[in-house]
Amino acid sequence: MATSTEENYLKAILHLEDTKGAATVGDIAAELELTSGTVTTMMQHLSEKGLIDYVPRRGLKLRRHGRLAALKVVRRHRLIELFLVEIMKFDWSEVHDEAEDLEHVVSDLLLDRMDEMLGRPTHDPHGDPIPDRNGKLTLVDSSSLAEVEEGDYRVVRVSDENSALLEWLNQKGLKIGGEFTVSRKDRAAGILEIQRGGEAALQLGLEMAGRMYVEEV
Ligand SMILES: [Zn+2]
Repeated sequence: MATSTEENYLKAILHLEDTKGAATVGDIAAELELTSGTVTTMMQHLSEKGLIDYVPRRGLKLRRHGRLAALKVVRRHRLIELFLVEIMKFDWSEVHDEAEDLEHVVSDLLLDRMDEMLGRPTHDPHGDPIPDRNGKLTLVDSSSLAEVEEGDYRVVRVSDENSALLEWLNQKGLKIGGEFTVSRKDRAAGILEIQRGGEAALQLGLEMAGRMYVEEV
């Protein structure tokens, strides 16, 4: 069994491998807001436990067991978020921090009951895919809103970590599946203008837009 600290490291490595192709000590330190020295010590420890392959200054990689352990935590996190929203009526902007704590303590039995109550869902409230019980994760094909050109798009997923963005989307009535037009993109000013139906255009900073993922309509 992995401790909650170990689980957070495994989750960070999984995230980096899936988004950047590989994790480095420096990236993990940045993601978890720790020093490289602290991360290096933990890499040696996770390597001794057989959860990662780690050669100092050469690189690191999740081993099969480490990857499965990480996917289990991601599954718990996302199912808990959905449970809090669907069953307990939390707002989607409120659930990430709760899930960060609860993901380390719910039992497999409790989680399976939650999964059943939710009808074995495939996506969390922010549009992220939920790994299945065997640890199979189907990644969602989407582009960062900060990267796309002018045109028509649909919201596929939104980063769960920035509650200000989620509240802003609430105010504007923009949800997962919601459609809009990128009517103007000003790279120099770092601003994106989006429009929905006949409504007035909304301005969004490219940094925030980078936390939203869309597909072309
Ligand atoms: Zn979350």
